[in-house]
Parts: sequence; C-alpha cells; structure tokens
Amino acid sequence: MMRRIYVLFPLAMFLGLLFTSFCYSPSNSTKPYKPKQIKTIIVDAGHGHGRHGGNGPDGARGEYSVEDDITLGVAKKLVAEIKNQIPDIRVLETRPTDDYVQLKDRANFANQNNGDLFISIHVNSAPKLREVKIIGHHKETYYVYSGKGKKKKKTKKSRTVPTYKTYYYPNPANGTETYVFASHKTDDKTEFITENGDNFMNEQDDSTMVSDYKSPELLAQAALWTKKFFFNSIKLATHVEDQFNISGRVSRGVKQRRVGIWVLQATAMPSILVETGYISYRQEEDYLNSEKGQQDIAESVTNAIKWYKEQQENPRPAGEQSNNKK
Ligand SMILES: [Zn+2]
Repeated sequence: MMRRIYVLFPLAMFLGLLFTSFCYSPSNSTKPYKPKQIKTIIVDAGHGHGRHGGNGPDGARGEYSVEDDITLGVAKKLVAEIKNQIPDIRVLETRPTDDYVQLKDRANFANQNNGDLFISIHVNSAPKLREVKIIGHHKETYYVYSGKGKKKKKTKKSRTVPTYKTYYYPNPANGTETYVFASHKTDDKTEFITENGDNFMNEQDDSTMVSDYKSPELLAQAALWTKKFFFNSIKLATHVEDQFNISGRVSRGVKQRRVGIWVLQATAMPSILVETGYISYRQEEDYLNSEKGQQDIAESVTNAIKWYKEQQENPRPAGEQSNNKK
C-alpha cells in the first residue's frame, strides 16, 4: 500500500552540473574559483510539546512514545556528532528544548543565521491495516409496508445477515525516507509524488497553520529558493539515504514533495527532511527510542554532511572524477 518510489538521479547529472558550474563560474578570471564553504548547519527537531496548548506531546504516536521526544533525542545526538566530527562547523538548533517552536520562527532562525544546510528530523507513521471479516450470521427483523391510506399494512419479517467484525493489524511499513521540497515538476528523470496519504499528516497540519506564508510574494520567493537549492538538497538527501543503507537500515529512498513540508520551502539554503523511521512499526519504535538507534541515525546523517561538505568545498571537474575510476 505504501508507494515506494525512488528518485533516480544519474551521476551524469551531477557531473553535468559540476561542469556547468565550472563553465559559468564568475568569469573575472583573475580570481580563482572559490567554492562555497559550509559553515553553519541548522538542525531542526520536528514538532514539540505544547503545540496544541497545554504541555502535551506532538507528532506521530507509537505504542508508547511520541514523535517529538524522538526527534529531540536524535537532534541532540546529531548536534553532538557534527561538533565531534566536524569541529570547525557551527551547529544551531531551531528547537533546543521540549517546547514547540512555530514553523515560521524556525525558518526565520535558519535564514537569519545564514545557515548553509537545514536538516529537519522527523518520525514517520503509517495507519494500522484494517480488515473486515464475516465471523458468523444473525437474524435481523425488518418491516414491509403494503397498501395505502387506511388499508396500509405493516408486516414484520426476518432475514439472516452476516455478522461483521473489524480487525486492525500493525502496518508493516518501515525504514527511512528523505524528502526535498519541489515547487513544481522539475524533471522527467525525477519522479514526483503529489500525495502519499498517511505520511505527513502531522507536517501537513503544521503547514496549514502558517497561512500567512502563502502570500504570492512568499510563494514566489520559495519557488526561487527551491530552484536555487534543489540540486544540492537532492545531493545531500541521496547521501543521507545511502548512509542509512550502509548502516543496515531499510532505505525507502529520496522523495520530492510540495505539500506538508513547508519549513523546507521557507529556508534559503539546501534543506532536507529526514523521516528517521516508522513509529507505527514496533521494532522500529524500539530502535528510534534507543540510545543506539538515535546514535546510529546521528552518525549516518553526519557522515552524509561530511561527504557533502567535502564535495562542495573541493569540487573536481567531471573529467578528473571519471579519471579517478579504477
Ligand atoms: Zn513529523
């Protein structure tokens, strides 16, 4: 029932992009080409307590845990891991505590601090599978009316009908997904997902709350940002999923989406949203709540950031890369 669509992104396209950036890089040719340094990373722990008033938890719910506690746990470990592995980088948190932070405040925080990457941590959920079974039969009474006016007659009758019972089963969906924002269908080589049903219910609620960000001006700005940062977002997302794969997780791939991930379109930097696993899948709920699971996720994402940083800061011409093939 869950659609598994992987974004196919040929290496040729990366190389083509790299080549293009060399051809068209600032041509006041006295200056050497200066690649962009990755200095600031924004880590965004999805959801947060108290979003709906009070101090209640928020996000997808499992048997015993709620998304916002897991996202904060993973985000804290991710921050520590980035600082540990890439000490020259500045890491900032949009939601450093349990408390919910408005999405537009998260985006503004990222933009005001000149983030070079925005990484939003979330937890996925799929609804229980529902099956209706006939478990027996029972008698049902009904009435038949005949005649008109004073001659109207009501006859009681009975018939045998099936007895139904509804059963719910755990949804077997599990694994990781990384999303990038797509403001329009960008390329035939990348598959675009319009709706995914059960995913993103929580995120979608969020995006409807920021209706003031749906003005034509802001949408136009979002479209420009998406265009500008799309390929780098895809690059990072692809590597995050590769790293999950290497660490033994089930990777469901990189996906594009244009609804429900508002925070990605409002950030002026390459931005990804990592669905770190399914809270609705019991083994994965345990993993997501464990120290080891959260640490594994933090390490996978950090490895991907390191690769991305290295690639951005030391790009090589396409020819040179292919020469390095063994
Ligand atoms: Zn979420």
